[in-house]
Amino acid sequence: MATNYKYPLSKPYITEKEIKAVESVLRSGVLSLGKKTEEFEKAFAKKIGVKYAVAVNSGTSGLHLAMIACGIKEGDEVITTPFSFVASANSCLLVGAKPVFCDIDETTFNIDSDKIEEKITKKTKAILVAHILGQACDMAKINKIAKKHNLIIIEDACESIMATYKSQSGVVKKVGAFGEASVFAFYPNKQMTTGEGGMICTNSQKVYKMCLSLRNQGRNENRQWLDHERLGYNYRLTEMQAALGLEQLKKLDWMIKQRQRVAMLYTKELKKYPELILAPETDAHNTHTWFVYVTRVKNFTEKQRNQLIEKMKMQAIQTKPYFPSIHLFSFYRNTFGYKKGDFPVSEKASDTSIALPFYLTLQKDDICCIVEALIKNIRAIKK
Ligand SMILES: *Cc1c(COP(=O)(O)O)cnc(C)c1O
Repeated sequence: MATNYKYPLSKPYITEKEIKAVESVLRSGVLSLGKKTEEFEKAFAKKIGVKYAVAVNSGTSGLHLAMIACGIKEGDEVITTPFSFVASANSCLLVGAKPVFCDIDETTFNIDSDKIEEKITKKTKAILVAHILGQACDMAKINKIAKKHNLIIIEDACESIMATYKSQSGVVKKVGAFGEASVFAFYPNKQMTTGEGGMICTNSQKVYKMCLSLRNQGRNENRQWLDHERLGYNYRLTEMQAALGLEQLKKLDWMIKQRQRVAMLYTKELKKYPELILAPETDAHNTHTWFVYVTRVKNFTEKQRNQLIEKMKMQAIQTKPYFPSIHLFSFYRNTFGYKKGDFPVSEKASDTSIALPFYLTLQKDDICCIVEALIKNIRAIKK
């Protein structure tokens, strides 16, 4: 699919080091639940600044286990955003809880913290914040709301590894270090990859032990075959993936710097054109680690935006709407009766945004070529 594109939407960055690391695991004979997984977890926890990390086979699995470990159950309500990857809201449904959507902020595309409190009911148990596209949510405000109403914070940090948030007191923390549990993902389009994979982070020993058990069939904590204490899953990451993850983690800072470089090149080029709205903006106290690069076309309808994607495709440049709002997926419409107009800010972002090819080897010439095609196509559609 992506191979036909001159400029695909994303591309993992894999070097000989990753290949050698995976090869050496294959030769070792230990392919699951070995030293590499433990090493990966320890290094990851340290990188994020939390006590514990549990590796799992996807971000979605991680969210599922985080929900269970935080005690979210049937009948509970969880406040979350409609503007995210579907796994965010699905993770609530996987434990029988109801995702209660709260509209987003127009400039950052993250959950609008001013609208959270009006969504709280007697059934509200948690806020599932999703740090979208590479930057942190308004954590000071969200923390305050959670404290006031005794709610658990769970972070979907799958798109924003290494993004930081600076509180008013000046303390800088990484995304994933705020919640009772947080979850990262390593699908090939993320800032770092293990092919498929995810990581749960927490400072709670209880959550940590529960996640270790749940990912491994509910086995008791000393990893014996002997007893299964609870209903569990097979959400284990392989040793090959852990080895790959360890290599990626070593170059993560550099990879993110490169993403920031590419993002700056895009911003500099796109700024020249009044047709575009540079969105979302980065909050002053955040560092953005750029999962994808999204822009919006002024006064474009959804139909025109889709035409633009088609035209770009004809020129072998892959672009995509980012994101379609979750509440408008047919499963959500049919199950919960959502309709267009329910979350207007999210829908507007969904209808007008376009994600451009974004990976760390892109150079200035590539960016100029992509932007030139973009502008030409926008002007052709507007005629
Ligand atoms: C990538 C992603 C996930 C997890 O996806 P998996 O494919 O299961 O690893 C979850 N939430 C968001 C917001 C994501 O972008």
